[in-house]
Amino acid sequence: MVVARRPIRPSSYCNLQPAQRILEHRHRKRVSGPALVHKSLARLNRSWESTFLTACSRRLVVPSWEAYTMSDHADDRSQAGGTVDPKPAFKIGDFAGYIISDGQVPYSTDFVFSNAPAGVLQSGLAGRLDERGELQLPYHCLLVTTPSQNLLVDAGLGQAAAAAWGVPAAGRMLESLAGTGFSPADIDVVVISHGHPDHIGGLVDGGKLTFPGARHVIEAREWDCWTDEDQLARLPDGLTETARVVLPLLAQADVVDVGRGETEVVPGVHLVPAPGHTNGHSVVTVASEGQQAIFLADAVLDELHFTHPRWLSAVDMMPDETIATRIRLLDEAARDSSLVLAYHVAGIGQVEHHHDGYRLFTQQ
Ligand SMILES: [Zn+2]
Repeated sequence: MVVARRPIRPSSYCNLQPAQRILEHRHRKRVSGPALVHKSLARLNRSWESTFLTACSRRLVVPSWEAYTMSDHADDRSQAGGTVDPKPAFKIGDFAGYIISDGQVPYSTDFVFSNAPAGVLQSGLAGRLDERGELQLPYHCLLVTTPSQNLLVDAGLGQAAAAAWGVPAAGRMLESLAGTGFSPADIDVVVISHGHPDHIGGLVDGGKLTFPGARHVIEAREWDCWTDEDQLARLPDGLTETARVVLPLLAQADVVDVGRGETEVVPGVHLVPAPGHTNGHSVVTVASEGQQAIFLADAVLDELHFTHPRWLSAVDMMPDETIATRIRLLDEAARDSSLVLAYHVAGIGQVEHHHDGYRLFTQQ
């Protein structure tokens, strides 16, 4: 069903003001105009040498799940940006999860860590920055297969936006999907964690829906935010122009289902509101036979957000909620021994408490 747009509430329904303040602050420091995201990304034409592989080259062995071993496929990732891996990253009961890489994009460190103390950040990032001092963030969608349906969680930046941003190593989701042996026609449900361009751009390909036969599930507040021109007008164009193109096409095709509160997408797979990064940002849980995987989407943007859960990025729209949600999710993941994945984090594993934060750990 397509949800009718709600009238905007006078008190700023989407509560985007904190992000605006962060962006404006950064604007005064570094860039001109509101298009921080554009500025940050347009500078990028990188050799896609594998600094990010350094960070994700640890071997992951997760008990009870088939491990996804990034280091085994390092050569595939070094230049092209996309990942073609036909093996599932994990299996839980009748479910299998595949990492569908859309590639990678370099970001400035103060974009990813807008409030981190410089000295602590510098040591935390040691050995991970490229020759320009920037951090390669992977874009990892998740394909979940069930006995009856196939779900794709997030769709990457898409080729059009990747070209516009000048990031040729992104926009590779369809290549990676094909590498698993699946085609767009095989996808029954697309789950959208939130409306940022790096998650929704791939929903359109060549001006048409990439998955025209799929239901597209999104949290109601998120849909409302990114389809409301009054709200969009308050954000930088670099964040909004993809939503302005993609979401109306979904609405016109009548393929959108919105979830209110925690929503069962298919039996065993839930869309769970996790506000902070955006107002309707949601994570996805996959559970079967006493085991659970949780796809954190952008509740963390880097592994350092496990260690320092109070560090924010420049695009965490609701800072206090971002921190509270992150801590809640990581506490629950540690308690439940969940398998943890995140869209911009290369490794997968389990979470444990560590000093004042957490860490994503692996077992040899
Ligand atoms: Zn993202």
